[in-house]
Amino acid sequence: MQFIKKLFGLNKEPEFDIEKAVGELLLNLPGCSKYVVVISPKYGDKYYNCEVVAETQYLSEWAANHAEVVLNFNKEEQAARVALPHWLRSADLSNKHWTYVTYYFHKVLSPYALDFINKDFAEIYCLECESIVKNIKMEEFDKKKSGGYVWWTDLWTCPEGHELHYQKKQIHFIY
Ligand SMILES: [Zn+2]
Repeated sequence: MQFIKKLFGLNKEPEFDIEKAVGELLLNLPGCSKYVVVISPKYGDKYYNCEVVAETQYLSEWAANHAEVVLNFNKEEQAARVALPHWLRSADLSNKHWTYVTYYFHKVLSPYALDFINKDFAEIYCLECESIVKNIKMEEFDKKKSGGYVWWTDLWTCPEGHELHYQKKQIHFIY
């Protein structure tokens, strides 16, 4: 591909130096603490009325592996994916505050919020109860299948009955 680009003089775009981008990112980031907020309406997560908070220590192990197996074609997101485990490892674990992450870290982390909860290294903070809540009811309803599409609705409720998450979802399977 590189050869073809050169042949046709298409290689004019400067090469993206991921090492440099990651280095710059790490220099400019605020420090991380013992807990990282993965989901929050503060990030614009409009389908959530809760915050999902993960323990940095466990997230760090996950991120190291994740950076190697997933490749993203968005350069900023890929740089964030590579920088994330380094940033998490540099965390001050004696600082028990919750750290809110940058736009691209949130993009990398948020699709895995449910995984983190299921793996038991993230907890849910109900904004109505104003506390960490356990025994969350997670339901899927209105499930429909047609022509390679699956639709359903996710609903999470806290023990007090507060709605934590509500989202209609759709997956298209390509065979
Ligand atoms: Zn609640």
